[in-house]
Amino acid sequence: MEITSWLLDVYPLHDRMILWVRTDKGGLTFQPVLGMHESVAEIDFSSMYPTVMVRHNISAETILCPCCPVSKVPEAGYNICEKREGLVPRTLRPILERRKIFKSRMKNSQGAEKELYSRRQTALKWLLVVCFGYLGYRNARFGRIEAHEAVTAYGREKLLRAKEISEAHGFRVLHALTDALWITKAGMTRPQVLDLCAAIERDTAAPIELEGIYKWVVFLPSKVKKNFPVANRYFGAFEDGKLKARGLAFRRDDTPPLVKEAQQKMLNLLSTCGNSREYRERTLEVREVLQGYLTRLHTGDLKKEELLVAKSVRQKGSEYKVDNLTALALRQLEDAGIEIHPGEKVHYLIKDSGAKNKEERIRAFPLLSADGFYDEEKYRDLLLNAAEEVIGKSGSDFMDTPKRTP
Ligand SMILES: [Zn+2]
Repeated sequence: MEITSWLLDVYPLHDRMILWVRTDKGGLTFQPVLGMHESVAEIDFSSMYPTVMVRHNISAETILCPCCPVSKVPEAGYNICEKREGLVPRTLRPILERRKIFKSRMKNSQGAEKELYSRRQTALKWLLVVCFGYLGYRNARFGRIEAHEAVTAYGREKLLRAKEISEAHGFRVLHALTDALWITKAGMTRPQVLDLCAAIERDTAAPIELEGIYKWVVFLPSKVKKNFPVANRYFGAFEDGKLKARGLAFRRDDTPPLVKEAQQKMLNLLSTCGNSREYRERTLEVREVLQGYLTRLHTGDLKKEELLVAKSVRQKGSEYKVDNLTALALRQLEDAGIEIHPGEKVHYLIKDSGAKNKEERIRAFPLLSADGFYDEEKYRDLLLNAAEEVIGKSGSDFMDTPKRTP
């Protein structure tokens, strides 16, 4: 339950820094308490925004209607029609109900049947997500910015209520983000959390579910400002050993496969740990994994494809104003007669990231040369950073050879 002190060396705790911020998407964030926490429950509102639209009758034609003047929407004070159900709620209601049924069947089935219902409920989940996206989209036929604002205002209110109710039930809120809360309390049990979910649902009229209880979870600081909490960088292991991670290197598209694989191996090792003590003990094995990859990098015991960086292309090579590595790769491919369209990806090998001649910095795939040369130091940094994300910064003992100074 307590924040483990060794991780605090790495991720110092601020004076219970409480920051409620409205993100650009309109969701509410309660900045996480950095470091490792044991026995933490994550509870999530299920399809929060579509639920809000249906529950509060939010639609382009119901918001600010001329017939029902009562101010309703929190913060904004907009009125909403009470006489007619809007087109959007009327459309979403059956999808929400169907998803609820699929989810319950998923929970009560096994094997192939479980998988079937899991896929069906996930398909509906994304359908509901894009409905919200479109609600605020100016050019959408059913879009209206005030409707979008009303949804996020109700969303913030519900998350805030959930936090207050959790605290009233003796829980400590470690982190909250848009529609999810991470909570803990001494001797926490699953039935207590389920009781809390029922209480929140009664109060907010929005279903909230137990996503799972983590054996341990780590909230990571910002990559740029090392002592600063950020909303969406964390990883943890549930009681059944399943991992959940956000904002880590292995989840990023532009992380080379070798680095992704290394970090996933490290996390798999750690996922079996029951608590912070075991976690700490296992960091030795994590360092061995790291060492193995550093050795492979140094001796060249790998395929070059494992080192490719993937980047999405937004425009044509000639349209890039800055000579970044993506633009370089794109132009190398264009010179070779290979056309890459915006929306597609380029893959490149980092040859010498500090080279004065920009052309020598990278080589686009599949135009790799046979010389076998790559920027070992750059890839080493990527591996070290990936390890640091999961076991903290432990200084030079990670490395087999001293780092070259530029
Ligand atoms: Zn009305």
